[in-house]
Amino acid sequence: MCHNVIDGRYHTECGHFVGMHSEVHDCWRPNCLFSRRHLHSGCKSQSCIRLMALPVKNPIRISPTTCGDCIAIERAAAATTTTTTRS
Ligand SMILES: [Zn+2]
Ligand SMILES: [Zn+2]
Ligand SMILES: [Zn+2]
Repeated sequence: MCHNVIDGRYHTECGHFVGMHSEVHDCWRPNCLFSRRHLHSGCKSQSCIRLMALPVKNPIRISPTTCGDCIAIERAAAATTTTTTRS
């Protein structure tokens, strides 16, 4: 089965993976709908694979920090706390 390979950055601090670029890994099977070797156009064959396998994460960069999302959440939380203390 074909699957997406997602290149990205892995943040060790929060354990999140941030995808930067993804591409389809071709399984080269003639009975796979997603393969460039797939034999049928407008395929109606029951034996053909119609599902992609789960995407594979490929961490090409490792950051010993928290990801952008987590930083934003932390900042938002900090902002809320400051406003509550002020009022
Ligand atoms: Zn395939
Ligand atoms: Zn087919
Ligand atoms: Zn994170």
